[in-house]
Amino acid sequence: ATMPPLLSAIANAGRHGVLVKSAVVMERLGEVSQVALDKTGTLTEGTPRVAAVRVLGREAPGGGTADTSVVATRDAALALAAAAEQPSEHPLARAVVDAANERGLALEPADAFASAPGSGVRAVVAGQEVRVGSPAATLGERAGAAAPLGLAHGYADAPPASPREHPDGTPHAADRTSRPAPAQASRALADTPRVGAEAAPEVAEAWRVVDEEEGAGRTAVVVLVAGRPVAVLAVEDRTRAGAADAVAALRELTGAEPALLTGDNGRAAARLAAETGIGDVRADLLPQDKVASVRAWQEAGHRVLVVGDGVNDAPALAAAHSGIAMGRAGSDLALETADAVVVRDELGTVPAVVALSRRARRVVR
Ligand code: ADP
Ligand code: MG
Repeated sequence: ATMPPLLSAIANAGRHGVLVKSAVVMERLGEVSQVALDKTGTLTEGTPRVAAVRVLGREAPGGGTADTSVVATRDAALALAAAAEQPSEHPLARAVVDAANERGLALEPADAFASAPGSGVRAVVAGQEVRVGSPAATLGERAGAAAPLGLAHGYADAPPASPREHPDGTPHAADRTSRPAPAQASRALADTPRVGAEAAPEVAEAWRVVDEEEGAGRTAVVVLVAGRPVAVLAVEDRTRAGAADAVAALRELTGAEPALLTGDNGRAAARLAAETGIGDVRADLLPQDKVASVRAWQEAGHRVLVVGDGVNDAPALAAAHSGIAMGRAGSDLALETADAVVVRDELGTVPAVVALSRRARRVVR
């Protein structure tokens, strides 16, 4: 007997380097009318590198070195940040740990680790509370320098455990990420210091450094120790080869403008969008904001394909009509939640698998 078209399409997708989890998934991929791509790890290679460590709190009025700095050197700042990032699977966390390892720094163990997808991590290192994350999550609103630090988005001890069971889009992991943080995490956070008036000069300095680095197209990651900004890490990532071609192919297949959904800053996002030819850029998004974009398209009648890699993409992957995860950079949660996984690490496989589905569907009908 000849193989049913959807099954041979799955076999074909496998040869292209995409693991499609079921015939239903294979069929649904061809219905996609709007594509949304994550930035870090999806349109970029996902192996970012720390390009600079900038220690704060050293600009005393009058030119001397201020005595407010908790860390005296770049290595000290990097070692604390890397210690806190060790348990995280985020590409930025790996960049920080790799940079520390390359410099031969000894890392203290991290206690009470918690991560907030799309925001950053916090842990206790050598008895001190260390937070590493986006400027917004660590420094608070740019306008209110005395805002509480990093508590806006809620940390959880672990990512939501199980992915949705069936790719029909009904019960999905999206709701689970908005559950309240476990009691233990909330208590730990309630005890943590908040930025006080005495840290205001460092907060202002941190924002200046963040602006410089983001202006240069880098991703700025802020390190706080005991509630005070001590350093900004400037991280660089490379755009994937073939990203622009994949974007063009997806535009052609759907007739709709592919969108970039990212938790990163607007300038890094705009630069990458220009490089890859994406006309719809949405930056500074939390995981639930990515879901909101997906739902808005769906309410407008679209069948949405989300391509992502991170824990922060899992809710959007689950909410979408179809979800594809990037296998190499991908977090376990993204791989489990997605309907298909890119095993050969190339973005061009995504339009290829949509086209395969279209062909199989024509044979089925
Ligand atoms: P993207 O959507 O581009 O994949 P994420 O939503 O994963 O990005 O992350 C958004 C931002 O949150 C990052 O640019 C970074 O500033 C911060 N962030 C998230 N996780 C971490 C982490 N483990 N360490 C440092 N910063 C992090
Ligand atoms: Mg990502």
